[in-house]
Amino acid sequence: MPMNARYQALRLLQSRPPVPPTDQSRRPSEIYAQHVFTKKVMKHYLAKETYLALKETIEKGKTLDKGIAGPVANSIKAWAMDKGVTHFTHWFQPLTGRTAEKHDSFLELSGDEPIDKFSGDELSQQEPDASSFPSGGLRRTFEARGYTAWDCSSPIFIFETTYGKTLCIPTIFVSYTGEALDYKIPLLKSISMLDKAATAVAKLFDPEVSRVVATLGLEQEYFLIDRALFDLRPDLILTGRTVFGAASARGQQLDDHYFGAIPERAFAFMNELEQEAHKLGIPLRTRHNEVAPGQFECAPQFEGLNVAIDHGLMVMDLIDRVARKHHLAALLHEKPFAGINGSGKHNNWSMSTDTGKNLLAPGQNPEENLMFLAFFTTVIRAVYEHADLMRASIASAGNDHRLGANEAPPAIISVFIGSRLSKILDDIENPPRRKKNEHVSDLMHLGIAEIPELLLDNTDRNRTSPFAFTGNKFEFRAVGSSANSSNPMTILNVIVAEQLKDFHHKVERKINRGRKLEAAVLDIIREYIVESKAIRFEGDGYSQEWADEAARRGLSNVKQTPRALDFMVNEKAMALFTTTGLFTEAEIHARHEVQLENYLTKVTIETDIAEELARTKIIPAATDYLREIQGTLPANATDDGTLAPLRKLRDDLAAGIGKTLTLLEELGSARAKAEAAADLRAQAITFGEEVLPVLDQIRNQVDQLEMVVKDAYWPLPKYREMLFIR
Ligand code: ADP
Ligand code: MG
Repeated sequence: MPMNARYQALRLLQSRPPVPPTDQSRRPSEIYAQHVFTKKVMKHYLAKETYLALKETIEKGKTLDKGIAGPVANSIKAWAMDKGVTHFTHWFQPLTGRTAEKHDSFLELSGDEPIDKFSGDELSQQEPDASSFPSGGLRRTFEARGYTAWDCSSPIFIFETTYGKTLCIPTIFVSYTGEALDYKIPLLKSISMLDKAATAVAKLFDPEVSRVVATLGLEQEYFLIDRALFDLRPDLILTGRTVFGAASARGQQLDDHYFGAIPERAFAFMNELEQEAHKLGIPLRTRHNEVAPGQFECAPQFEGLNVAIDHGLMVMDLIDRVARKHHLAALLHEKPFAGINGSGKHNNWSMSTDTGKNLLAPGQNPEENLMFLAFFTTVIRAVYEHADLMRASIASAGNDHRLGANEAPPAIISVFIGSRLSKILDDIENPPRRKKNEHVSDLMHLGIAEIPELLLDNTDRNRTSPFAFTGNKFEFRAVGSSANSSNPMTILNVIVAEQLKDFHHKVERKINRGRKLEAAVLDIIREYIVESKAIRFEGDGYSQEWADEAARRGLSNVKQTPRALDFMVNEKAMALFTTTGLFTEAEIHARHEVQLENYLTKVTIETDIAEELARTKIIPAATDYLREIQGTLPANATDDGTLAPLRKLRDDLAAGIGKTLTLLEELGSARAKAEAAADLRAQAITFGEEVLPVLDQIRNQVDQLEMVVKDAYWPLPKYREMLFIR
């Protein structure tokens, strides 16, 4: 019998050397941003006046003036052609969650003469065929066309692959009637809302502040497995996760992977990933192993939120491409392997002023600490108010496997701040009694003066919290590894902006009534602390006690996406969206529909492939083995009992095959029920609640078969083979 495909792949693995990076000798600072149309490049290629006009457009977040579009396009073309670029594309973020491109050549025929052309119009605006992107019915009810327009606040870059270089223009994607068809438009809106609201509050403390930008540092987790094994797993190819697979005898119990020495092939991969990122002006800095075997993480130095998100999406793309070159497959799914850690994308978020102050970092003096506390408690109050919306913002079929699965934050949104800050907030709420003759200010008395020293001890961490304060930023840890962070970040910006408006309004009212600034601010901080207490949790987020306690506190704990998405469209959310102007009712309903559709499509594909694998690979392998055992048993069994265990093996195996087949029938009826449900939402809910549990049972059966069936017959690469790359 010829060697099976799995064994062939395993043999191939043994001879895989690490792939050296293309260019090992260059220092990061040398190659940094060489593929970016930076201000420095602009200055070089543009006439001074045009440069200054463009710089202002970019810095103020304005739209490109038609008058300069032509010369700007010309200079971009000149720069790009110097770099060997032949095509350009508008690069945008449709609601699919990843990025989209439509490439056009610079080539144009002028009469018979071929010329390279890139006009101001081509730079500013394009009309990709919008009908192939999800719109949640927006285009059905409104207008069929959509267009993309340059987002000047995100730099133009060149994407290089082995086969060529493309000029990429980051754009928004909008319908002709003005509805957002992407993630960038609401994100940009939310950033400007936050700027306005936070600047007003910051001005109470420091009149010099005239602008606040949201900042973001994304930690991206992913798995690497060998490409040959990946190619033998149709489930990984189609869904990014293994629908079957018995646990490896050695998993992550030894805890030896985290921060351990990086395996050589992975190291080579990471080196090249960093190089490619640096060329694109993405400041990747950290790389290390994660908790699970085969799991890794990278993180850049934080940047302005909009650019950080674009960079995050580019990093996902790079991870994918660079992995291929190293004969690896990168898995960005939230839960590629059952039973070991999933992957998240920690969103480290803060706000920073144009005077250079991080508003979530305590300051040099008690007054600055008061300002810190104002922003800090406002964020907590905002999360308390809209925890459900935050839950909805991270909902996806992939993240359902992770949230609440015992090694990721639970589906309950809560805020962790550490014991030191908890004590300060508690003291502000119930001030300790003053000692006799103690004449210190409130700021001293309440310990507000000492916050910076308290935070120096940075060990107060909680890995089980979905939203944790980590010294000078909040870390939204519940975001899934494959997500476009735009959605959760948009929600966070907007709810904090709304809360800051409330804060500002209340403080001003008190001041107008004659209260001093410091006292007025402390009043509102106290009010927020009291109101938002239920959202604060310092304990073990994985524990059952927390689930029970959260229920008593009235916090929701919705485990599956279809119901979590209800929070996007309930009355409270609708009021927030329409009063702030973030979304119209039509837009939010459209987004809701897109997300439901996305969920249903993903779980349907998973179910389809699981069913196919079970029927066409697993059952046949198991029956081959069954036949083989049967062949070893004498036809007329008159033995002394020594064959009894073998007969038992045969019977157990037959029973396992039988159960799997029965469950596959059940799966069919559950699916029929889901398909027959009244509308999209009901279909998604039924699928999640009735089909997926049967799928779990099938998985259970198949994984048991894997532990029994002859190794040489098993068609799918096993966990231990995939997880330990050398
Ligand atoms: P860890 O969370 O593991 O301690 P770091 O302290 O390096 O790691 O932070 C992780 C991420 O948080 C990095 O991308 C870092 O740049 C980012 N970060 C640090 N400060 C801020 C900030 N003020 N705003 C946003 N992100 C920040
Ligand atoms: Mg972190």
